[in-house]
Amino acid sequence: MMQWPDGKRAAAAFTFDLDAEAVWLGFDPANASRPGVLSQGTYGPRVGLPLILDRLARFEVRATFFIPGVNAEVHPAAVESIVAAGHEIAVHGYHHVAPASLSRDEEARELELAIAALGKIAGSLSGYRSPSWDVSPHTLELVEGAGLAYTSQFMDDLRPYRHPGRRLIELPVHWILDDWPNFMWSADQGTRTIRSIEEVEPIWRAEFEGIRDLGGLFVLTMHPQIIGRPYRLPLLEHMLEFAVSSSDVWTATCREAADYADRQLAAEPGSHG
Ligand SMILES: [Zn+2]
Repeated sequence: MMQWPDGKRAAAAFTFDLDAEAVWLGFDPANASRPGVLSQGTYGPRVGLPLILDRLARFEVRATFFIPGVNAEVHPAAVESIVAAGHEIAVHGYHHVAPASLSRDEEARELELAIAALGKIAGSLSGYRSPSWDVSPHTLELVEGAGLAYTSQFMDDLRPYRHPGRRLIELPVHWILDDWPNFMWSADQGTRTIRSIEEVEPIWRAEFEGIRDLGGLFVLTMHPQIIGRPYRLPLLEHMLEFAVSSSDVWTATCREAADYADRQLAAEPGSHG
C-alpha cells in the first residue's frame, strides 16, 4: 500500500477542467455559430470560476485546473486569476478535441500549442488530462516526450501508479467522481435529468471513504460551468469541508501528489500501487 506524507492514510485532489466554450466546439465545430450553446461554457470562466476560487480560499485548499490551451488566449484573465490564487495549471489539450479522434501529428501539435499558451501564464507545467478522457495510443508517448510528469485520465486504479515502461505517473479518475455525468443536462440528450446534490453527495462521500480505507488518492473532477451553479456550490463546499476535516487525508494538488508518488514508486517502476 502506498505511504502518504506525515503518516496520512490517503490523499485527495480537487480538480477543475476549465473547458469554457471549447468543450462545446469540440463536440461539434458547428457550435461556433450557436452562441446559445456556447454561452453554457462562457458561464465557467465568467461566473463559476470566481465562485469556486472563493470556496477554495475559504477552505485553504489548493486545486489543479486542467485547461484547454486555447482558453489561455480566449480567457487570459481567468487563467491569470487561478495562478494568482496559488493553484496549479495543467494541460487539457489545446482545442477540446479527444486525442483518439486525431492523427499522431495533430495530437502532437495540440500538445505543443497548449504547452506554449498555458506556459506563458503558468510558467512550468507538469500535468496532462486528455479532453473527454478519450486517450489515443500515442498520448502517453507524446506527453512524456513533451516533458510532463503525470497524467490524470485512466480509470484502472484507486492509487497513483507509474505507466508501464515510462516515467509518467498516473493519478486515476472516474466518471463517478465527475460533475459532468452526474449533473449535465443537454438539450441534445433529453433523456438526461438535472439531479439534486442530495443524490450525488452520498456517492462522492462513499467513494472518498472507500478510497481512504484503501490508502488511495481521491481525485474529484469538476467543471466551473457545472459545479459553479448556485445550487451545486454547496456540494463543493461539503466535499472541501469533508476533506480538510479528515485529519488522516492529505489534500494536495495533482502536481504534489504525482511528485510524491513518483518518489514512492521509484523502487518499483511500472507497477500498480
Ligand atoms: Zn474537458
